[in-house]
Amino acid sequence: MLSRRSLACALVAFAVLVLGGLSLTAQAPVREITPIRGNLYRFRNNGHFSVFLVTPAGVIATDPIDPEAAAYLKREIATRFKVPVKYVIYSHGHEDHASGGEVFADTATFIGHDITKAMMAADKVPSPLPTETFATTKTVTLGGATVELSYLGPNHADGMIVMRFPKERTLFAVDIVPIDSVAYRDFPNADISGWIASLRKIEQMDFELLAPGHGPMGTRDHARRHREYLEDLKTQVSAHIQHGMTLIETRDAVNLTKYKAWTGYDTSRDLNIDGMFRLMGGR
Ligand SMILES: [Zn+2]
Repeated sequence: MLSRRSLACALVAFAVLVLGGLSLTAQAPVREITPIRGNLYRFRNNGHFSVFLVTPAGVIATDPIDPEAAAYLKREIATRFKVPVKYVIYSHGHEDHASGGEVFADTATFIGHDITKAMMAADKVPSPLPTETFATTKTVTLGGATVELSYLGPNHADGMIVMRFPKERTLFAVDIVPIDSVAYRDFPNADISGWIASLRKIEQMDFELLAPGHGPMGTRDHARRHREYLEDLKTQVSAHIQHGMTLIETRDAVNLTKYKAWTGYDTSRDLNIDGMFRLMGGR
Protein backbone atom coordinates (compact mmCIF):
# COMPACT_ATOMS: atom_id res chain seq x y z
CA MET A 1 0.00 0.00 0.00
CA LEU A 2 1.19 3.49 -0.76
CA SER A 3 1.23 5.94 2.12
CA ARG A 4 -0.71 9.16 1.57
CA ARG A 5 2.57 11.00 1.02
CA SER A 6 4.01 8.55 -1.50
CA LEU A 7 0.66 8.44 -3.29
CA ALA A 8 0.86 12.22 -3.67
CA CYS A 9 4.41 11.89 -4.99
CA ALA A 10 3.28 9.23 -7.45
CA LEU A 11 0.47 11.50 -8.64
CA VAL A 12 2.89 14.39 -9.12
CA ALA A 13 5.25 12.11 -11.02
CA PHE A 14 2.34 10.94 -13.17
CA ALA A 15 1.29 14.55 -13.86
CA VAL A 16 4.85 15.47 -14.82
CA LEU A 17 4.98 12.49 -17.16
CA VAL A 18 1.64 13.36 -18.75
CA LEU A 19 2.49 17.04 -19.10
CA GLY A 20 5.94 16.12 -20.38
CA GLY A 21 4.30 13.86 -22.94
CA LEU A 22 1.88 16.61 -23.94
CA SER A 23 4.66 19.12 -24.37
CA LEU A 24 6.47 16.61 -26.59
CA THR A 25 3.46 16.19 -28.86
CA ALA A 26 2.89 19.96 -29.12
CA GLN A 27 6.57 20.76 -29.54
CA ALA A 28 7.47 24.14 -31.02
CA PRO A 29 9.47 24.01 -34.24
CA VAL A 30 13.23 24.17 -33.81
CA ARG A 31 14.42 27.23 -35.71
CA GLU A 32 17.85 28.77 -35.44
CA ILE A 33 20.41 30.84 -37.28
CA THR A 34 24.07 29.96 -36.83
CA PRO A 35 27.15 31.60 -38.39
CA ILE A 36 29.07 29.46 -40.89
CA ARG A 37 31.91 31.76 -41.92
CA GLY A 38 32.18 35.50 -42.62
CA ASN A 39 28.74 36.81 -43.57
CA LEU A 40 27.37 33.38 -44.46
CA TYR A 41 24.78 31.88 -42.09
CA ARG A 42 22.94 28.58 -41.76
CA PHE A 43 19.18 28.59 -41.15
CA ARG A 44 17.52 25.60 -39.51
CA ASN A 45 13.83 24.68 -39.50
CA ASN A 46 13.53 21.33 -37.68
CA GLY A 47 15.28 18.81 -39.94
CA HIS A 48 15.65 21.18 -42.92
CA PHE A 49 18.48 23.64 -43.46
CA SER A 50 19.32 26.42 -45.91
CA VAL A 51 21.97 29.16 -45.96
CA PHE A 52 21.97 32.91 -46.57
CA LEU A 53 24.65 35.51 -47.30
CA VAL A 54 24.43 39.02 -45.86
CA THR A 55 25.78 41.93 -47.93
CA PRO A 56 25.48 45.71 -47.48
CA ALA A 57 23.04 45.74 -50.43
CA GLY A 58 20.78 42.99 -49.07
CA VAL A 59 20.62 39.26 -48.47
CA ILE A 60 21.06 36.37 -50.89
CA ALA A 61 18.77 33.67 -49.45
CA THR A 62 18.36 30.06 -50.59
CA ASP A 63 15.64 27.48 -49.93
CA PRO A 64 12.71 29.13 -48.06
CA ILE A 65 11.58 25.65 -46.73
CA ASP A 66 7.96 26.54 -45.85
CA PRO A 67 5.83 29.68 -45.23
CA GLU A 68 6.25 29.72 -41.42
CA ALA A 69 9.98 29.07 -41.65
CA ALA A 70 10.35 31.79 -44.29
CA ALA A 71 8.37 34.28 -42.18
CA TYR A 72 10.66 33.59 -39.21
CA LEU A 73 13.72 33.99 -41.41
CA LYS A 74 12.45 37.27 -42.86
CA ARG A 75 11.81 38.70 -39.38
CA GLU A 76 15.20 37.60 -38.06
CA ILE A 77 17.08 39.00 -41.06
CA ALA A 78 15.25 42.35 -40.74
CA THR A 79 15.97 42.56 -37.00
CA ARG A 80 19.57 41.38 -37.03
CA PHE A 81 20.91 42.77 -40.30
CA LYS A 82 18.45 45.55 -41.30
CA VAL A 83 18.64 44.74 -45.01
CA PRO A 84 16.02 43.21 -47.34
CA VAL A 85 16.22 39.78 -48.98
CA LYS A 86 17.11 40.54 -52.60
CA TYR A 87 17.44 37.00 -53.99
CA VAL A 88 15.91 33.62 -53.22
CA ILE A 89 17.75 30.75 -54.93
CA TYR A 90 16.09 27.33 -55.07
CA SER A 91 18.38 24.27 -54.77
CA HIS A 92 15.75 22.07 -56.47
CA GLY A 93 12.01 21.89 -56.93
CA HIS A 94 10.97 19.57 -54.10
CA GLU A 95 8.17 21.07 -52.04
CA ASP A 96 9.81 20.43 -48.66
CA HIS A 97 12.68 22.80 -49.54
CA ALA A 98 11.17 25.23 -52.07
CA SER A 99 7.85 26.17 -50.40
CA GLY A 100 7.16 29.52 -48.77
CA GLY A 101 9.07 31.83 -51.12
CA GLU A 102 6.12 34.23 -51.47
CA VAL A 103 7.10 35.65 -48.05
CA PHE A 104 10.04 37.33 -49.81
CA ALA A 105 8.21 38.32 -53.02
CA ASP A 106 8.00 42.02 -52.02
CA THR A 107 11.79 42.47 -52.28
CA ALA A 108 13.34 39.38 -53.89
CA THR A 109 14.08 37.99 -57.33
CA PHE A 110 13.69 34.19 -57.57
CA ILE A 111 16.41 32.09 -59.23
CA GLY A 112 16.50 28.41 -60.13
CA HIS A 113 17.42 25.91 -62.82
CA ASP A 114 15.26 25.72 -65.99
CA ILE A 115 14.13 22.21 -64.96
CA THR A 116 13.31 23.36 -61.42
CA LYS A 117 11.00 26.03 -62.85
CA ALA A 118 9.21 23.42 -64.96
CA MET A 119 9.00 20.95 -62.04
CA MET A 120 7.66 23.57 -59.63
CA ALA A 121 5.00 24.56 -62.16
CA ALA A 122 4.01 20.94 -62.87
CA ASP A 123 3.93 19.97 -59.19
CA LYS A 124 2.19 23.20 -58.15
CA VAL A 125 4.81 23.88 -55.47
CA PRO A 126 3.43 26.73 -53.32
CA SER A 127 6.21 29.26 -54.01
CA PRO A 128 6.95 31.83 -56.75
CA LEU A 129 8.44 30.30 -59.90
CA PRO A 130 12.01 31.39 -60.63
CA THR A 131 12.09 34.37 -62.99
CA GLU A 132 15.85 34.11 -63.56
CA THR A 133 16.70 30.63 -64.79
CA PHE A 134 19.79 28.99 -66.28
CA ALA A 135 20.96 25.69 -67.75
CA THR A 136 24.57 25.14 -66.64
CA THR A 137 26.12 27.84 -64.44
CA LYS A 138 25.22 31.28 -63.16
CA THR A 139 27.02 33.75 -60.92
CA VAL A 140 24.96 36.00 -58.65
CA THR A 141 26.62 39.13 -57.25
CA LEU A 142 25.22 41.56 -54.70
CA GLY A 143 26.91 44.22 -52.58
CA GLY A 144 30.39 42.95 -53.51
CA ALA A 145 29.56 39.33 -52.59
CA THR A 146 29.30 36.35 -54.91
CA VAL A 147 27.65 32.95 -55.14
CA GLU A 148 28.30 30.55 -58.03
CA LEU A 149 25.45 28.25 -59.06
CA SER A 150 26.23 24.97 -60.87
CA TYR A 151 24.01 22.32 -62.42
CA LEU A 152 25.76 18.95 -62.15
CA GLY A 153 23.24 16.81 -64.04
CA PRO A 154 20.39 14.65 -62.68
CA ASN A 155 20.95 13.01 -59.26
CA HIS A 156 18.53 13.01 -56.29
CA ALA A 157 16.25 15.12 -58.48
CA ASP A 158 16.70 16.71 -61.87
CA GLY A 159 17.24 20.48 -61.86
CA MET A 160 19.31 20.21 -58.65
CA ILE A 161 22.01 22.86 -58.35
CA VAL A 162 24.81 23.38 -55.84
CA MET A 163 25.80 26.84 -54.58
CA ARG A 164 29.43 27.75 -53.97
CA PHE A 165 30.33 30.75 -51.84
CA PRO A 166 33.95 31.29 -52.95
CA LYS A 167 34.99 33.84 -50.31
CA GLU A 168 33.53 31.71 -47.52
CA ARG A 169 34.87 28.52 -49.16
CA THR A 170 31.54 26.84 -48.47
CA LEU A 171 29.26 24.72 -50.67
CA PHE A 172 25.50 24.47 -50.10
CA ALA A 173 24.38 21.09 -51.47
CA VAL A 174 20.92 19.72 -50.68
CA ASP A 175 19.85 16.06 -50.54
CA ILE A 176 22.90 14.74 -52.43
CA VAL A 177 25.66 14.64 -49.78
CA PRO A 178 24.29 13.16 -46.55
CA ILE A 179 27.05 13.55 -43.94
CA ASP A 180 28.20 10.03 -42.99
CA SER A 181 24.64 8.88 -43.56
CA VAL A 182 23.16 6.25 -45.84
CA ALA A 183 20.84 7.55 -48.59
CA TYR A 184 17.23 8.55 -48.09
CA ARG A 185 14.89 5.53 -48.27
CA ASP A 186 14.86 3.71 -51.65
CA PHE A 187 16.19 6.42 -54.02
CA PRO A 188 12.78 7.72 -55.21
CA ASN A 189 13.10 9.29 -58.69
CA ALA A 190 16.90 9.18 -58.47
CA ASP A 191 19.47 8.87 -61.27
CA ILE A 192 22.27 6.87 -59.62
CA SER A 193 24.89 7.21 -62.35
CA GLY A 194 24.15 10.94 -62.50
CA TRP A 195 24.35 11.14 -58.70
CA ILE A 196 27.78 9.47 -58.61
CA ALA A 197 28.96 11.77 -61.43
CA SER A 198 27.63 14.81 -59.52
CA LEU A 199 29.58 13.81 -56.41
CA ARG A 200 32.76 13.42 -58.49
CA LYS A 201 32.25 16.98 -59.76
CA ILE A 202 31.72 18.25 -56.20
CA GLU A 203 34.97 16.53 -55.15
CA GLN A 204 36.77 18.64 -57.79
CA MET A 205 35.26 21.94 -56.59
CA ASP A 206 37.20 24.42 -54.47
CA PHE A 207 35.64 24.64 -51.00
CA GLU A 208 36.24 23.46 -47.43
CA LEU A 209 32.89 23.46 -45.64
CA LEU A 210 29.84 21.60 -46.84
CA ALA A 211 26.42 22.84 -45.72
CA PRO A 212 23.83 20.13 -46.48
CA GLY A 213 20.04 20.48 -46.54
CA HIS A 214 19.73 18.01 -43.64
CA GLY A 215 21.93 17.04 -40.71
CA PRO A 216 25.26 18.35 -39.47
CA MET A 217 27.79 20.43 -41.41
CA GLY A 218 30.49 18.51 -43.28
CA THR A 219 33.59 18.99 -45.36
CA ARG A 220 34.51 18.33 -48.98
CA ASP A 221 35.68 14.82 -48.03
CA HIS A 222 32.08 13.84 -47.25
CA ALA A 223 31.30 14.03 -50.99
CA ARG A 224 33.97 11.36 -51.64
CA ARG A 225 32.69 9.19 -48.79
CA HIS A 226 29.11 9.26 -50.02
CA ARG A 227 30.21 8.66 -53.64
CA GLU A 228 32.19 5.61 -52.50
CA TYR A 229 29.15 4.34 -50.56
CA LEU A 230 26.90 4.66 -53.64
CA GLU A 231 29.53 2.96 -55.85
CA ASP A 232 30.00 0.15 -53.32
CA LEU A 233 26.24 -0.42 -53.08
CA LYS A 234 25.81 -0.24 -56.87
CA THR A 235 28.69 -2.67 -57.56
CA GLN A 236 27.50 -5.24 -55.02
CA VAL A 237 23.82 -5.09 -56.02
CA SER A 238 24.66 -5.27 -59.75
CA ALA A 239 26.85 -8.35 -59.22
CA HIS A 240 24.09 -10.15 -57.30
CA ILE A 241 21.53 -9.28 -59.99
CA GLN A 242 23.91 -10.73 -62.62
CA HIS A 243 24.08 -13.93 -60.61
CA GLY A 244 20.31 -14.16 -60.76
CA MET A 245 19.61 -13.34 -57.11
CA THR A 246 16.19 -12.17 -55.99
CA LEU A 247 15.71 -9.00 -53.96
CA ILE A 248 15.51 -10.94 -50.69
CA GLU A 249 18.70 -12.88 -51.52
CA THR A 250 20.42 -9.64 -52.52
CA ARG A 251 19.47 -8.00 -49.21
CA ASP A 252 21.15 -10.88 -47.36
CA ALA A 253 24.21 -11.01 -49.61
CA VAL A 254 25.12 -7.32 -49.71
CA ASN A 255 27.72 -6.43 -47.08
CA LEU A 256 27.52 -2.81 -45.89
CA THR A 257 28.84 -3.39 -42.37
CA LYS A 258 31.61 -0.82 -42.81
CA TYR A 259 28.87 1.83 -42.84
CA LYS A 260 27.25 0.47 -39.66
CA ALA A 261 28.01 3.62 -37.66
CA TRP A 262 26.42 5.90 -40.28
CA THR A 263 23.15 7.71 -39.63
CA GLY A 264 20.15 5.80 -40.97
CA TYR A 265 22.00 2.48 -41.32
CA ASP A 266 19.52 0.55 -39.15
CA THR A 267 16.38 1.99 -40.76
CA SER A 268 17.42 2.55 -44.39
CA ARG A 269 20.04 -0.13 -45.23
CA ASP A 270 17.44 -2.48 -46.71
CA LEU A 271 15.57 0.39 -48.42
CA ASN A 272 18.81 1.56 -50.06
CA ILE A 273 19.39 -2.00 -51.34
CA ASP A 274 15.76 -2.22 -52.56
CA GLY A 275 16.13 1.07 -54.45
CA MET A 276 19.45 0.12 -56.00
CA PHE A 277 18.02 -3.31 -56.99
CA ARG A 278 15.13 -1.55 -58.77
CA LEU A 279 17.38 1.06 -60.44
CA MET A 280 19.82 -1.63 -61.66
CA GLY A 281 16.97 -3.55 -63.31
CA GLY A 282 16.67 -6.38 -60.77
CA ARG A 283 13.50 -8.45 -60.77
ZN1 LIG B 1 14.69 16.71 -52.44
